[in-house]
Amino acid sequence: MITMNKYKFVSNRVMKNSKGEEKGKMRVMVPSGTETAHMDYVCPECGLAKHEETPWIRPFSFTCPKCGFLMKLPKLKEEIKKEKKQAKKELEKSSGLDV
Ligand SMILES: [Zn+2]
Repeated sequence: MITMNKYKFVSNRVMKNSKGEEKGKMRVMVPSGTETAHMDYVCPECGLAKHEETPWIRPFSFTCPKCGFLMKLPKLKEEIKKEKKQAKKELEKSSGLDV
């Protein structure tokens, strides 16, 4: 059964263009045990919609290959908290399995 626990980081964001208009979006998912970000995005600047897999580096940002617009994933306190909780859970789970 597939559960939400297979991702260590999930984010769904509305992206603003250079004029501050909410025209695009970005969804980032990082599967547990990997450092690869799976992202689906719509560039707020040019409307390019694509799926990409890129190294998971924070702070996470991505440059649109079409127009060069930089999409940044802002850090939110809530998300960091959630992520820590999830990481702890993963740690507990793996320490239990590693015996
Ligand atoms: Zn673009």
